[in-house]
Amino acid sequence: MATKKKTPKYIFVVGGVMSGVGKGTATASLGLLLKRRGFNVTAIKADPYINVDAGTMNPIEHGEVFVTDDGDETDQDIGSYERFLDTTILSHNYMTTGRVYRTVIEKERALEYGGKCVEVVPHIPEEIIRRFKEAQKKADADFVMVEIGGTIGEYQNILFLEAARMMKQQAPEDVLFVLVSYLPIPGRLGEMKTKPTQYAARTLNSAGIQADFIVARASLPIDEPRKKKIGMFCSVPEECVISGPDMSSVYRIPIMFEEQKFADLVLKKLGLKAGTKTTKEWFDWADEVREYKHEVRIGVVGKYFTTGSFMLADAYFSVVEALRHAVWANKKKPILEWIDSEKFEKDPKSIKELKKYDGIVVPGGFGKRGIEGIIYVIKYARENKIPYLGLCYGMQLAVVEYTRHVLGLKDAHTTEIDKKTSNPVIDIMPEQFANLQKSNFGGSMRLGAYLAVLREGTIAIESYAKSKNSRWNFEKKNGGAIVHERHRHRYEVNPEYIMRLENSGMIFSGKSPNGVLMEIMELPKKTHPFFLGTQFHPEYTSGPLKPHPLFTAFIKAATADRK
Ligand code: GLN
Repeated sequence: MATKKKTPKYIFVVGGVMSGVGKGTATASLGLLLKRRGFNVTAIKADPYINVDAGTMNPIEHGEVFVTDDGDETDQDIGSYERFLDTTILSHNYMTTGRVYRTVIEKERALEYGGKCVEVVPHIPEEIIRRFKEAQKKADADFVMVEIGGTIGEYQNILFLEAARMMKQQAPEDVLFVLVSYLPIPGRLGEMKTKPTQYAARTLNSAGIQADFIVARASLPIDEPRKKKIGMFCSVPEECVISGPDMSSVYRIPIMFEEQKFADLVLKKLGLKAGTKTTKEWFDWADEVREYKHEVRIGVVGKYFTTGSFMLADAYFSVVEALRHAVWANKKKPILEWIDSEKFEKDPKSIKELKKYDGIVVPGGFGKRGIEGIIYVIKYARENKIPYLGLCYGMQLAVVEYTRHVLGLKDAHTTEIDKKTSNPVIDIMPEQFANLQKSNFGGSMRLGAYLAVLREGTIAIESYAKSKNSRWNFEKKNGGAIVHERHRHRYEVNPEYIMRLENSGMIFSGKSPNGVLMEIMELPKKTHPFFLGTQFHPEYTSGPLKPHPLFTAFIKAATADRK
């Protein structure tokens, strides 16, 4: 067991030079190594946006919206913390500038500042610190990893840094700073450059903060001369410059950190003794998955891929991770491809390209763009018996497709797109209609974990029953079973169509406990190898060592011989 000190420790992780250097993964990886030494670790994300949550941001701009069990719409980094730390992270571990200001203003209106002049400093950092400490208490954490969003030197995150500086000032022995910085290797020079990182460390100094560790993110490992240089010019002991080259998989980053004794150095700095290391299970797994050779090709069909001239799958971060976990669980090698559904609207003949996939996934989404293309893809997967997994919108649109082409109700649609359709097979939930009428858009969807009752003899219940009991809380109950899953939607299968859909072969294998909301849809195994959709988002609770059973079942079907 670890020797625990009474005072909790805070490790602040900040980013240098540019965004997207991998602060979230670094935070989660160091957290994992500390947890595996017997400490209780939690992780917080402090996002600089004014948005109260990530729910109102376009996924192309911000990446995935990650939903917590208690229904918060947060940043995808919270998902990384959950996957690496194998823990449930709740709303109080996420904050934005908007959220912090809102609390301060509400307190001021309630006269909680007792007539004082309420100021940006110290009142905003004080509220930030209160939130950091609250998260520590709720998790009873020995270590609180705090990732500060944005990049050093920008104006936006300065109050979070000020809060961190104040904490260091109040308890120097309890606070550490990790700067995750980028070292470019310009093609023309062919040499790793340290200067931008030196500037980042100095800019951090001008916020009153000295980095204790610098993670040197680059395409290659950092060499000794450059380590020396960074140590010297950023006032960091050389051994505290941690090499952070690109890895074949994010799950190997903890291994790379361990090789450099990152966690041990952290403990040494804080005067703590390390407990027994129990990282073996993770390391063995990460080594083993590298050996899988047999490829599984999965097409992810969506519409939040293109930003300018670049294709990114950031909007579907957890879906991509959940697919990887499930492919590895089947001892195969994942080949994932992103397909923009609008392509099939412009060029319907190109649908045949889908033949090359072992399975097709349609993840969640909103609005009209690209939707006919998606419905076309679903029809193709259904008719050609390609394993299909639909997540949220991907389930709703599968129901629309089925209603149109099997029930023969040609104009069937979701009222999200066609309010006047004579066959609104997907319709808005009544309480959601009221929200939209009042322009109450923020944080108002059906969010977070709800129960679903599973039906005996279905793909759904069989898949869950096979997996080890985990974050979805599978529990056998009188002739069926229940699971907890996370939601984020306003629309649902219209109850008026359920009987007709069931009579024509569709099975609703998961329903809300009152039987009103359809949570899982599937087609019988004898008609299709795997055609299943969920109203919830199973991807949020999948972990590398605990893949989600519905994803695992989907991949199993995708790897089975298809004639
Ligand atoms: N747009 C759909 C709804 O609001 C689906 C949402 C989603 O895929 N997360 O119900």
